[in-house]
Amino acid sequence: MFQHTIAAISTALQDGAISIIRLSGDEAISIVQSIFSKNILNAKSHTIHYGFILDDNKQPVDEVLVSIFRAPKTYTREDIVEINCHGGTFITRKILSIVLSHGALLAKPGEFTQRAFYHGRIDLSQAEAVQDMIEASNDTAANMAIRGIRGSIKKLLQPLIDDLMEIIANIEVNIDYPEYDDVAQLTTHDLLPKTNEWLTKIDTILNRVQTGQLLKKGIDTVIIGKPNVGKSSLLNALLEEDKAIVTDIAGTTRDIVEGQIHIGSIQLNLIDTAGIRDAKDKIEQIGIEKSQEKLKQAKLVLLVFDGSKPLDEEDKKLLELTNDKMRLIIYNKEDLSQNTDKEGIWISAQNNDIHSLIEALENMYQNDLLKEEPLLSNERQIGLLNQAKQDMIRAKEAMENFIEPDLIEIDIQMAHDHLKEILGEVHREDLLDTLFSKFCLGK
Ligand code: GDP
Ligand code: ZN
Repeated sequence: MFQHTIAAISTALQDGAISIIRLSGDEAISIVQSIFSKNILNAKSHTIHYGFILDDNKQPVDEVLVSIFRAPKTYTREDIVEINCHGGTFITRKILSIVLSHGALLAKPGEFTQRAFYHGRIDLSQAEAVQDMIEASNDTAANMAIRGIRGSIKKLLQPLIDDLMEIIANIEVNIDYPEYDDVAQLTTHDLLPKTNEWLTKIDTILNRVQTGQLLKKGIDTVIIGKPNVGKSSLLNALLEEDKAIVTDIAGTTRDIVEGQIHIGSIQLNLIDTAGIRDAKDKIEQIGIEKSQEKLKQAKLVLLVFDGSKPLDEEDKKLLELTNDKMRLIIYNKEDLSQNTDKEGIWISAQNNDIHSLIEALENMYQNDLLKEEPLLSNERQIGLLNQAKQDMIRAKEAMENFIEPDLIEIDIQMAHDHLKEILGEVHREDLLDTLFSKFCLGK
């Protein structure tokens, strides 16, 4: 299906210890042979060869390791050769240009993964998981991505697809043998419980979608409380707790998010804390109005009270204000408090004693994280799931109204196709081209 051997730089183009130039296609090995100092034409699959890349005058260009992977046990199911060269951008580009001048074509973005998909090595949800892995900004996102790469989404959806095939088959029988009038009645009667069961299953998956998205992208979080309750101290304690190294958050988060912190498997995107890295006493002394504004953007509220004092009117207003939000109620200054049996999370921010808050954060999603089933977080996949659900709701209504079976079948067929489309098994070429072109070069 793919005639050309493609090549690209598969590592990030910046100075580093090594870079990898990857080739895929029938001529991958012979092209590299023509520029390599060692004989690799008969090399076994999955072997590594030390030598030099040579220019057209047979002069060494760089000292490299060449890895040979023979089809079909490769990422693309074609022959793959990887050249590990020194990591400077100049030398990397130079070797790529030598490879291209010996017959390889520059790969389009995502073309390696596209070939893997077309050759049936991975389904579309797995291809998307590859992209998710590269974009993952926290443990949980990486974890979800690896499950996706290993095919968990297909495992999740295949039973639902099979159920629909069964219902369709039932209806087909019904259409083919219309003379059995009473059978027709019975079939619709039979199909309804099956349809309801199916809708319950899809709802279970969709209910977990929000969690999946929260865990993948991080939870937009706001710290709210009266002046002097210890918001800035809490922020500093959280920063202290963050073990992840975030080098570049610009561009990956939206404007309102000021910083990301990673607490266990949870990522909090902190909203509007007025300069997170320089946070001591920088959280504004916010009024109710300002709180309302921040709250709109937040998925999670950390509502802080001074535990050493009784709640006053302003505290109670904040309680009311955050009533319909996902929130954690935090009593700070435990060290000063006589009476700590109020229900909530007790911490002493100033002393970096926030373990009960961290446990509470972890517990929020513990159940979802422990489950084997994948959490869907990809917009395209979720959209298609929702479409399939709508199709089946229409089918269900039609069944309840004793509509002609062949009309019901159309809706079920559509639900079936929408699920298959998640895996790329029913696909439009233009759609696939757009999807794969979003991938970085070299994948
Ligand atoms: P904010 O106005 O809500 O940001 O509160 P700050 O973090 O600026 O803290 C207000 C005051 O309370 C400061 O003097 C802090 O040192 C003090 N404080 C904060 N957390 C604690 C705590 O856990 N224990 C005690 N004893 N004092 C605290
Ligand atoms: Zn402060």
